Amino acid sequence: MSKYAPSATPCIRVSPSGVHGLGAFATRSLPAFALLGLYEGRRYTPAQVAAKQWNDQLTYLFTLSNEETIDGAKGGNATRHLNHSCEPNCEAVEEYDDAGKLVLKFQTLRAVEAGDELFIDYCLTADDGSGPEDYPCRCGATNCRGTMLAPVEAPEEADQEPSASGA
Ligand SMILES: [Zn+2]
Repeated sequence: MSKYAPSATPCIRVSPSGVHGLGAFATRSLPAFALLGLYEGRRYTPAQVAAKQWNDQLTYLFTLSNEETIDGAKGGNATRHLNHSCEPNCEAVEEYDDAGKLVLKFQTLRAVEAGDELFIDYCLTADDGSGPEDYPCRCGATNCRGTMLAPVEAPEEADQEPSASGA
């Protein structure tokens, strides 16, 4: 194991969440598009991701557009504690750093107050056959889609929310 020091995230305080487990809270009021920190952690290639058993750690995994996956559970900083919301106040944005490395930047989507819990929309994709019911969302937003999985383009004729399939 190499020594790895996660970068500081002075705008984030980690405390028990109102929604799930630990959460990330703003230490001070922030304007829209304020940088919270970089999503850090161990990086995996697609082959490495496929070869590994992840159990329920999916919520700490971020797959970048270059197909690298960052596991925030390993060497990550406080940004990994942002919970999911279907109506988030923060977002994750990809950017190339000065060294040409693709990084994932967490920033506010709109102004937040000191003490506000910070959320992003995980838009998870489950390649292991898990259904929406395996990643339930309890964010409480009025437009909550009931799952942390990415929205699925519903066929025209199906105007019903998918329900848990008999398992
Ligand atoms: Zn929700």
